[in-house]
Amino acid sequence: MAERCAWRQSAEPSAPLRIAVVGAGPVGLSLALQLRQLGSDARLLVYDAQPDAAAALADPRVLALSEGSRQLLDSLAAWPRAAATAIRRIHVSQHAPGLASLPRVTLDAARTQLPALGYTVRYGELLGALQAAAAAAGVEVAYGHAVQVRPQDGGVLLLDAQGRPLEQPPCDLAVLAEGGAFHNQPRRDLHHDYGQTALIGRLRCERAHDGLAVERFTEHGPLALLPQGADYALVWCVAERQARDLLQLDPAAQLRALQALLPAVCGRAVELRLAASYPLGLNARLRAREGRVVQLGNAAQTLHPVAGQGLNLGLRDSAVLARALLGVPAARLDGALRRHDLARLPDRAALLGLTDLLARGFTWSQPGMPMLRAGALALLAGARPLRDALQRRMVFGWRM
Ligand SMILES: Cc1cc2nc3c(=O)[nH]c(=O)nc-3n(C[C@H](O)[C@H](O)[C@H](O)COP(=O)(O)OP(=O)(O)OC[C@H]3O[C@@H](n4cnc5c(N)ncnc54)[C@H](O)[C@@H]3O)c2cc1C
Repeated sequence: MAERCAWRQSAEPSAPLRIAVVGAGPVGLSLALQLRQLGSDARLLVYDAQPDAAAALADPRVLALSEGSRQLLDSLAAWPRAAATAIRRIHVSQHAPGLASLPRVTLDAARTQLPALGYTVRYGELLGALQAAAAAAGVEVAYGHAVQVRPQDGGVLLLDAQGRPLEQPPCDLAVLAEGGAFHNQPRRDLHHDYGQTALIGRLRCERAHDGLAVERFTEHGPLALLPQGADYALVWCVAERQARDLLQLDPAAQLRALQALLPAVCGRAVELRLAASYPLGLNARLRAREGRVVQLGNAAQTLHPVAGQGLNLGLRDSAVLARALLGVPAARLDGALRRHDLARLPDRAALLGLTDLLARGFTWSQPGMPMLRAGALALLAGARPLRDALQRRMVFGWRM
């Protein structure tokens, strides 16, 4: 509360920025932490709609994070090392029963300079680590506030759910990291409903995973097995109607349906527990900024989970913005925000394009498509430089 009482509008052009972060999910918290760690003198207010910190930890999804994300979180003392499982190999293949020979691609950490290709961690464990690091760094989160924003007097006014001002005067900058809760607002450049649902859960296979992750493209959508503890975390994307049918089956029948799609490399599946489902869509803004309101993470782009890149991209958003804001007084803020928006465009656009192509391209059912997809996988399997380049980009992002 001390920081909030000290929040006063200043006519001084060199006064520290007053920044509101709307959403204390992984992206909003990592931005606040980086600003503190970099020594920013900005006055920060962080809001979240959840009733309290514990409620925000309940999300059951398991996230695959790249080595680049691990390094960032580690530097913020927010890497939940004990809860993370290393991904050492990734097996990519297609389920196409009509084709005799099916190419597959294997990415292997042993062929990189990295200890692992990535890591898996539960959303709740990651958020818990970020909450603890934020508390230790003096970042205060006001829970129970579903905030709205409105430009006013060259700044941004924060409003509560009933439209009453939360803070006066308006702040210099509002960073929306609310995970896409505002995506139903009129201005969004890219929107596509994939007509798919992601079913998530845990899968046990006879063969120990030994750090193996599996990305399998099926005609209904991609499915991923991520090593997590002793089991796999499953992300199974299927057509909406198929999801409804699957959820009505008993666990043994669900397991049989899944087994029919899996590659031999993970061995026989023995136990499946589905936990939650998420409708899948693409919602994005190419320019993630309107005046003094900036969108980060899923607020800027909600992607299909194929290739597990949403949070990795959001963490890079936060890292670039934190550096862009460093030492910038209110008088030079607009220029800094313009440059930041431009700098983020290549990385964001590349992943928007790639995930959209993968999510749609592997479900196209025109004659010859399975063969074409097999050809694309064969090309990737055979072209080592292409594979290495793709792997590097997935780990550290697309830079200018
Ligand atoms: C099935 C599935 C699997 C995925 N797997 C991966 C993966 O393997 N790897 C990966 O990198 N990404 C993955 N993702 C994407 C990843 O989950 C998101 O990119 C990430 O959670 C985005 O973080 P965020 O902080 O932007 O938003 P969120 O995690 O959604 O957090 C937003 C926060 O804002 C709060 N909030 C909402 N509205 C308001 C408001 N009006 N005012 C204040 N606070 C508000 C919410 O309470 C929440 O705490 C997956 C997504 C799905 C659905």
